[in-house]
Amino acid sequence: MNRCRCLVFNAALGVLDYRVPSGMDVEPGSVVVAPLGPRQIIGVVWDTERLPDQDVPEHKLRPLLQVLPVPPLPQPLRRLIEWCADYYMASLSQVARMALSSSAALRGGGTVTEYRLTGHEPTRLTPQRLAALDLLHDQQATIRELAEIAGVSDAVLRGMVNAGMLEAVTVDSDRPYPHADPHHADPDLSEAQAAAAARMVEAVRAHAFRPFLLDGVTGSGKTETYCEAIAAALEEGRQVLVLLPEIALTEQFLRRFEARFGATPVTWHSSLKSSERRRAWRQVASGGAQVVVGARSALFLPFARLGLIVVDEAHEISFKQDDGVRYNARDVAVMRGHFEQVPVVLASATPALESLQMAEAGRYERLVLPDRFGGATMPAISIVDLREDVPERGRWLAPSLVAALKDRLLKGEQSLLFLNRRGYAPLTLCRTCGYRFQCPNCSAWLVEHRLSQRLACHHCGHEVPPPPACPECNEPDCMVACGPGVERIADEVAEILPTARVELVTSDTLTSAAKAAEFVERANARAIDVIVGTQLVTKGFHFPELTLVGVVDADMGLEGGDLRAGERTYQQVAQVAGRAGRGEKPGEVLIQTRHPEAPVIAALAAGDRDAFYEAEAESRREVGAPPFGRWAAIIVSSEDEAEARDAARAIGGTQPRLDDVLILGPAPAPLSLLRGRYRYRLLINARRSTELQKILRGWLDPLRLPPGVRVAVDIDPYSFV
Ligand code: ADP
Ligand code: ZN
Repeated sequence: MNRCRCLVFNAALGVLDYRVPSGMDVEPGSVVVAPLGPRQIIGVVWDTERLPDQDVPEHKLRPLLQVLPVPPLPQPLRRLIEWCADYYMASLSQVARMALSSSAALRGGGTVTEYRLTGHEPTRLTPQRLAALDLLHDQQATIRELAEIAGVSDAVLRGMVNAGMLEAVTVDSDRPYPHADPHHADPDLSEAQAAAAARMVEAVRAHAFRPFLLDGVTGSGKTETYCEAIAAALEEGRQVLVLLPEIALTEQFLRRFEARFGATPVTWHSSLKSSERRRAWRQVASGGAQVVVGARSALFLPFARLGLIVVDEAHEISFKQDDGVRYNARDVAVMRGHFEQVPVVLASATPALESLQMAEAGRYERLVLPDRFGGATMPAISIVDLREDVPERGRWLAPSLVAALKDRLLKGEQSLLFLNRRGYAPLTLCRTCGYRFQCPNCSAWLVEHRLSQRLACHHCGHEVPPPPACPECNEPDCMVACGPGVERIADEVAEILPTARVELVTSDTLTSAAKAAEFVERANARAIDVIVGTQLVTKGFHFPELTLVGVVDADMGLEGGDLRAGERTYQQVAQVAGRAGRGEKPGEVLIQTRHPEAPVIAALAAGDRDAFYEAEAESRREVGAPPFGRWAAIIVSSEDEAEARDAARAIGGTQPRLDDVLILGPAPAPLSLLRGRYRYRLLINARRSTELQKILRGWLDPLRLPPGVRVAVDIDPYSFV
């Protein structure tokens, strides 16, 4: 071949033809450097027959400059990239870019110089050096990264190197990871665990695409069970990918994995240092990384010999990416399993209705773990009707919940209060004039965070210190907090139980894997009496001493018209309830609500999961919602409100009129202003069999809109704001 076609990493161009100079070897998947105008650009050689013809005459072709020293992207990954681009309506190069997620790795192996503290501390230190010393404890990274961590300039750190306070360490980016041993500590499985494990192990050995729904109650030992499948893949010399929904859960998983296999797996998430990314990416591509645990982005890593994919807590909505390529990692994982011809395990105690439906239709094999491991019983769940059991004025915890908290404290047991709202209060206003503090970039209230003394927007990150006076009427010290956030609940607990050790757990406090590990340690060491947390504490954690769970506001998720509100509330409450009574002592769950009659709440109280899923399925069937029908959203945005509105109207005006396809809108999005952009939405509902993407392309591709307008298509949307 003397010419080839490349996906080049430039959104506007996409696919270009090049000449392959003699002596250069390329094949589909080769990662190359190509000329583009006066610049050089990275690209991937693609299978010519799968792309439309370009008919560029031979003499116009420019030669490729270089093949980068990494293995070509494997064929199954190329098929996955094509599928994602097609299904989620993104460009091929946009998706392919996710697979080449470490630019350092592409330059080949080699060494990086990192620095760490030597322990030498001169007697007189500048305040900057003193502060850096504190923050750099136990860190090893490049000067640039350390400067970031310590919040000082590179020059300060170079000075510290010269003063002998920091030393250089050479890091080889291709050094192998410790070896995981499939039989390091084989567990004794229960009968149900063994039966489920056997099915997965068989599929791993068969090297066959087989999707499993590992449906086990909280505490049934799903992790132990799928670890048997991991062991089988290791024995086969195959690699394994485990997806987890939150970095905060990773730390706990790493420990359990290490206990089981004698080595920690490779981690992959957005906060890796660039040297760690480079090493991980290269080891994945060479086959050296045996097991990778990661966030959704790990799905696009170039595994050389993948043998199994596990998606833990598969119902979690954080697997859905809501910007860039808007994909659902759970679904992409199944597709990757299909192209790789390997089994995929979706593990959950509260599966998505979509996944249950696939199991019912026989497309997924359902493996059930009906009981908690080791004889632990499921917690007793009761409802606290806030209309009768009324909290004291200005408080949020009902007397019965307060009594239960006191009782646990006396017995030396742990409690957990769950409220899915960060900060102190969701809304702050001026006592005198009623002014509401709002984000300048978003149509959202600013949330008061007392601990960090900030008013913050949870959508764009805008932050201001609380002003000394009302910006509207100038009244000093005017702010009143409306409604509770976790910080306020923690304050309330501290007032009610002055001797209790209360710990807040949110994404504001568990900011790193290390902090998460310390939290787990404290909880297990019984150094915490009451945990107050957001959705971060609802899943995964296993604290044997925790016997009481209080859900502060079960109605919160039901407000606001989200299509999956019922399911999400059910999952969240069932998951957080699942943290109670996992050890020897039985657990109790109190759910505060004003709507005990709502079907979700009633099903939770009765512990009747099937009733909930049946009712939910019925109501979705009626409105053609997933899994019975399909949704897509079109989000039209611009920094100029009139431009956004006009573009949305123009799109609405050319909508196709088709039987079986219902188009709602355009209407201002609930979050009508987000990060400074005005937003309009259209929602499309169609039958399952409808070729939605084809319709959308035929509709949107011909439109010519002003350059300031962005049109994003969200296939199978989860967010409706
Ligand atoms: P799930 O993820 O299903 O909620 P876990 O995997 O966290 O449950 O298991 C609950 C607890 O039971 C954990 O402490 C786990 O180590 C323990 N466990 C489960 N199965 C076994 C087993 N076969 N042998 C020993 N311990 C087990
Ligand atoms: Zn904002």
